[in-house]
Amino acid sequence: MATTLITNIGELVTNDPAREGVLGAIADGALVLEGALVAWVGAAADAPDADERIDLGGRAVLPGFVDSHSHLVFAGDRAPEFAARMAGESYAAGGIRTTVAATRAASDEQLTSQVARLVAEMRRQGTTTVEIKSGYGLTVLDEARSLAVARQFTEETTFLGAHVVPDGTTPEAYVDLVTGPMLAAAAPYARWVDVFCERGAFDGDQARAVLAAGASVGLRGRLHANQLGPGPGVRLAAELGLTAVDHCTYLEPADVDALRDSGTIATLLPGVEFSTRQPYPDARRLLDAGVRVALASDCNPGSCFTRSLPFCIALAVREMGMTPAAAVPAATAMGAAALDRSDVGGLVPGMRADLVVLDAPSHVHLAYRPGVPLVAGVWVAGRPM
Ligand SMILES: [Zn+2]
Repeated sequence: MATTLITNIGELVTNDPAREGVLGAIADGALVLEGALVAWVGAAADAPDADERIDLGGRAVLPGFVDSHSHLVFAGDRAPEFAARMAGESYAAGGIRTTVAATRAASDEQLTSQVARLVAEMRRQGTTTVEIKSGYGLTVLDEARSLAVARQFTEETTFLGAHVVPDGTTPEAYVDLVTGPMLAAAAPYARWVDVFCERGAFDGDQARAVLAAGASVGLRGRLHANQLGPGPGVRLAAELGLTAVDHCTYLEPADVDALRDSGTIATLLPGVEFSTRQPYPDARRLLDAGVRVALASDCNPGSCFTRSLPFCIALAVREMGMTPAAAVPAATAMGAAALDRSDVGGLVPGMRADLVVLDAPSHVHLAYRPGVPLVAGVWVAGRPM
């Protein structure tokens, strides 16, 4: 199989815990790709020969970003709602319903081209693995086709029928639908099941019922929880041993203890707080308590329409008490862990060769130069995009 040596890397971030120092980084590093995988990592001076040689002129290389939380299958535009919010109106979960109407009216082709456009935009900003949720169909047919569209772009698909109770039904009847015929139609296209556990959406008992139904057909659980206020979601996630629970903006001391004790990853979504002008989650508090923290975009048309993990890293550093050395693994290795993935999120021999080349000498520049398009190259499974 053809090999490629990528060398003269100013800082090679590996996230390899076996290496000394911050981020398992190697100064003046190199790596060899063989097919879709990383074959060798080390100092440029020690690099073996390869069929092809690429000199990066001192640029930094990071593992590709892993965005473990996005809602890309939708139609319509909610820019006026954003503008109104910036003029002083507050965010409420019910805004989801406006996207639902547009999504139901869209054809499969329209939804597919929209997701393709958004995934391409994510990739240009360094995201090489993305999770995509349903949740804007909210009928058996529309949830299943949303997931079928998402599945064309990623294996990390999540059934989020329990996003909000649609108009024209009751919460009880809707949970019965979600846990019954909708789940049956969605499950063939989904790896995960998720619930928006929040006041105005679904309560703890309803979330528990949806997660149990999903588990009964082999779907792994995750939750949106504690975004708009305190609630039962984070402790439910910890109790059930879920891989990750997302948002975690309003946490009581018992929530933090539960996350630490369970090992459930707290996935923070600072683009949401930016776009809704809400208080940011306290990442420093979580890290100091020993909680595992990931960063993701939550890209969606209502509460956060960014696809950029570099932007989220900069926000996490500026607004949430994270250092650049904590924020970068949160958007790479911990994002992968939040999807139960061990093949991505690092640059270690045997892992998938997903990498980002920065037009900068180190990872620090992602937060040091916010808003600057520093991603100069993206490789997925050993191939430049
Ligand atoms: Zn979300």
